[in-house]
Amino acid sequence: MSDCIFCKIVEGELPSKKVYEDDEILAFHDIQPAAPIHVLIIPKKHIASLDDAGPEDWAVIGHIQRVAKQVASESGVSESGYRVVTNVGANAGQIVHHLHYHLMGGARLSPLGLHN
Ligand code: AMP
Ligand code: ZN
Repeated sequence: MSDCIFCKIVEGELPSKKVYEDDEILAFHDIQPAAPIHVLIIPKKHIASLDDAGPEDWAVIGHIQRVAKQVASESGVSESGYRVVTNVGANAGQIVHHLHYHLMGGARLSPLGLHN
């Protein structure tokens, strides 16, 4: 996807502050952190959202969960707690249409729910 900013980050055409990388996955700091720890974990393959994932993608999505736990541990938030969440579509406020999981922690997070 030539116009996808996260594909450009994967390709190194846009900068990012990487915290984890392997053949299938990249994790980097969110550019506008909403918590003291705010990392985005993405598959290198372009998948627009969880809703666009197919059977061939379940393995990498499971892999993302494992990396989330590892990055949480390395960020020092395992004991204090953290949130791993993916936004899908308009009502969830998805802005970047390349599957990404937010890993957030380091402070008490607001409850999930309706917009004020
Ligand atoms: P979402 O609303 O779930 O689509 O979240 C997209 C997230 O991507 C937001 O938290 C943005 O701050 C973050 N973001 C957008 N552009 C970049 C970028 N170039 N590098 C890092 N994070 C980004
Ligand atoms: Zn992409």
